[in-house]
Amino acid sequence: MKYPARLLCISGHDPSGGAGIQADIEACGAMGAHPLSVLSSLTVQDSAEVYAVQAVSLDWLAQQIERVCADCPPQAIKVGLVGSPEQAVLIARLILGRGVPAVVDPVLRAGGGGVLAQDETAQALRRELLPAATLITPNASEARALTGLADADAAGAALVADGCANVLVTGGDEAGETVINTWHRRDGAPQRFEWPREPVGFHGAGCTLASAIAARLAQGDVLEQALVRAQRFVQGALAARLVIGSGRAIPNRW
Ligand code: PLP
Repeated sequence: MKYPARLLCISGHDPSGGAGIQADIEACGAMGAHPLSVLSSLTVQDSAEVYAVQAVSLDWLAQQIERVCADCPPQAIKVGLVGSPEQAVLIARLILGRGVPAVVDPVLRAGGGGVLAQDETAQALRRELLPAATLITPNASEARALTGLADADAAGAALVADGCANVLVTGGDEAGETVINTWHRRDGAPQRFEWPREPVGFHGAGCTLASAIAARLAQGDVLEQALVRAQRFVQGALAARLVIGSGRAIPNRW
């Protein structure tokens, strides 16, 4: 019997299916790993907007993680929306304890502007969770919000100085003819990846990228290889986008 590589995804639920745990499940499957899906929060949202967010209790989060990991140990972990400062502490302890690669996407706001994480949660993320990750994937505005720095490159470097080994600052939310993602790392100079920019806005691109990277890490890719393969996958999914409602398009991960 051959077991598939297993990726533990801890994320919020987005009923539109563009972002959150559904993005994780689809991206992870497309990249060849099996997702173990643990819910941190429920949201009320559609393809355009976030209306409400409700964190699951700490006890429920812990039980979901403990039970599934005891039976199906993951080879990597992906963390998306974190529902409270206490959840950040619990998830950081889990990551440090398991000794497998962990990708954390510090989700603060939806692309449509809705707040997904309160300030206290953002602070707990920065203090507790981000330094425990192998890689974090803030977009440029999240990198600025986490550090208070106006320059996205300076923000990426500051997050590395803060203890994050690898920071991929994504540029999908920036202006410009191309999308530039910058990999800041503890051991080496920053590396830029440049991709064509699709002419529409997306819902769920960040979740898709972080999950795709983590799914490749679960299968043993070194980080650079995982970054290249996952970005290539996301570029294809954006080019083949789906329009599911009145809001932004979603990546086509199928
Ligand atoms: N909802 C959930 C549960 C998410 O995890 C995220 C982002 O990670 C979003 C919504 C927002 O996605 P976007 O910023 O792509 O609209």
